[in-house]
Amino acid sequence: MAETDLTKIRNIGITAHIDAGKTTTTERILYYTGVSHKIGEVHDGNTTTDYMAQERERGITITSAAVTCEWKNHNINIIDTPGHIDFNIEVNRSLRVLDGAIFIIEGVAGVQPQSETNWRLADRYNVPRLIFINKLDRTGADFYRAFDTLKEKLDIVALPLQLPIGIEDGFLGVVDLVEMKAIIWEGGELGAKFHDEEIPADMLEKAKEARQVLLDTALAVDDAGMEEYFEKGDVSVETLKRAIKTGTITGAFRPVMCGTAFKNKGVQPLLDGVLDYLPSPVDVPGIKVAPEEGQDEDPNARRIKADPAAPFAGLAFKIINDKYGSLTFVRVYAGTLKSGDSVLNTTKGHKERIGRMYKMHADKRQEITEVVAGDIAAFVGLKDTGTGDTLAAAEDPVVLERMAFPVPVIDIS
Ligand code: GDP
Repeated sequence: MAETDLTKIRNIGITAHIDAGKTTTTERILYYTGVSHKIGEVHDGNTTTDYMAQERERGITITSAAVTCEWKNHNINIIDTPGHIDFNIEVNRSLRVLDGAIFIIEGVAGVQPQSETNWRLADRYNVPRLIFINKLDRTGADFYRAFDTLKEKLDIVALPLQLPIGIEDGFLGVVDLVEMKAIIWEGGELGAKFHDEEIPADMLEKAKEARQVLLDTALAVDDAGMEEYFEKGDVSVETLKRAIKTGTITGAFRPVMCGTAFKNKGVQPLLDGVLDYLPSPVDVPGIKVAPEEGQDEDPNARRIKADPAAPFAGLAFKIINDKYGSLTFVRVYAGTLKSGDSVLNTTKGHKERIGRMYKMHADKRQEITEVVAGDIAAFVGLKDTGTGDTLAAAEDPVVLERMAFPVPVIDIS
């Protein structure tokens, strides 16, 4: 089997205040990544219900614990992050197992309470974040006002990577400040196409100013980029992207993109942004080993790095019962696991034998024979492993989580 390139994996979550567009954005992403050719329109109750009913029929839903899609030769695992406050425990755990997140903010209302709550949780786990200001087509949408609420409510350095061209009915596209070009969409709502253009003359000054802010802010965290800038007076797109990614991972600033998921404007650039600016499993420091029973969290605790050759370690983060039985979703942190292998459930202290393993796509489940560090898979037939349990190789029986969480089991059979 070809070796998995860990730099081409992204484990991300999408989070939003209710109604800001998480479902729509997720569906558009699945559409563009080709795993889902039918789109459930959330504004049209029937279609959505049909869509969800069909998905349920197949035992997989887009609200599955983790769905894998492909974009430009990368595998993006989208991990479901429940938006509602009641699911705080689940939000906590899902934030733990992902390496980056998209925060969707409403273009009319700006930052809303649930986003604030989830933002603080993401802070706790140092999750790198991309912000997407959505619904710019709506009456009353105002990118700049929504942008201001990022600073006011989240107290962050928000860094626009794009500026909108037009607004409300007249929202046409964006100025891409990284490549300094305009992206204009045309055509129908589904499968809308875009093309690159010159930046509209009336926006040029504003775009230049915004790009200068982008350069100053991004290059401040990237010595090599700063050097290139001093030498040439500008930097290459690659350098700028690397600098933005560095700032995103360190939390020095939070990049902001925008569009309308519903009208399909901005979703493809957002997917590019996931590849360019959110980290792969090898870009992040790795999960900390849990403290001994009764001990406090140790800031210097050993971290498990994404190394396929290391002893296996993974965290069960969700269990879903569907008509095929019980699926245990596991984020693999280290090692390589093959079906038929035996591991320890180090939380409960017993052995588990690994049976079938799957990758979940929006429209099918794909059986796999091995899963490597950094990736996510669903296991069938574990005998007694709950959410939050660690599975690890007997030679290095680490425990990754010791929080006393109730076990959320979703039943969709
Ligand atoms: P969620 O609760 O965050 O999952 O939000 P949904 O994706 O279900 O969207 C809530 C409502 O907003 C639905 O009626 C969508 O059709 C609508 N919606 C989502 N994105 C957009 C957008 O970009 N523009 C407009 N005008 N409506 C949108």
